[in-house]
Amino acid sequence: MHSIPCRIHNCHHCCIETEMLLIKSDIKRIQTKLGISPVKFVYQTEEGHWMLRNKTFNGEKICFFLQRDGLCSIYDFRPEGCQFYPCIWDLDSHKVVSDDYCPHFDEFVCDENLNKSLELFILKLFGKL
Ligand code: SF4
Ligand code: SF4
Repeated sequence: MHSIPCRIHNCHHCCIETEMLLIKSDIKRIQTKLGISPVKFVYQTEEGHWMLRNKTFNGEKICFFLQRDGLCSIYDFRPEGCQFYPCIWDLDSHKVVSDDYCPHFDEFVCDENLNKSLELFILKLFGKL
C-alpha cells in the first residue's frame, strides 16, 4: 500500500534528501517485491554502507520511492531505518535518541524499549550480523 510516510503528522520531511542507510535484508525485500535491480534505488557510500538513492523532482532531491503526491510507494515494506525513524541509535552515548531533524521529534517515544531492536539494526548495518 502507498502511504504518507508519517500518517499522524502528514509529513515526509525525512524523505527529502534522504540519507537513509539500508541493511541487506531491506535491499533483498525491496528487490523481490518490486522486481527491480538494487542499483536503481541504492548506492554504496565511501564507507561501504548502502544508502537510498534520491531522485530530482522540481529541482529538489527526494527519496527514489517518494511519489509526487508525498506518498511512500513502498510503505508496507519500507527500509527498517524508515520504520524506526526519528528514533535512531546514538553511537556516542550508545542509546536510542530522537533525531531533531524531524520537526516532530519530541512527540515520538524513543526510549530504552527500542534499545534491543535498534542495536540489532546497527549491528546488521555494520555487517556484524
Ligand atoms: S523509503 Fe519511503 S519512508 Fe523511506 S525515505 Fe523513502 S519515501 Fe521515505
Ligand atoms: S519521522 Fe518526522 S520527519 Fe519523518 S515523516 Fe515522520 S514526522 Fe516527518
